[in-house]
Amino acid sequence: MPRYVYKCIECKEYFEVSHGIFEEQESCGFCHSTKLTRVPQMPHIRREVSSRGDKVGSEVRRAIEENRALLDEEKKKRVEYKDGN
Ligand SMILES: [Zn+2]
Repeated sequence: MPRYVYKCIECKEYFEVSHGIFEEQESCGFCHSTKLTRVPQMPHIRREVSSRGDKVGSEVRRAIEENRALLDEEKKKRVEYKDGN
């Protein structure tokens, strides 16, 4: 069965469910709210998502996180370099 990602409007959690193409998840797995939005799983076409401020979501956050990790690595390297001298 295909998997879908939903976002709960109430608790703002993302979760993944698998169900048939013609079915739809009706309630949040966390708070059982029925206010769900399906998150389109097309990472390259996210215009709709990014145009809404608060929905810039996990994709962007992950990118930022990765960037930060890279920066940390860089910093560490620099510190090691300095110490080495
Ligand atoms: Zn919820």
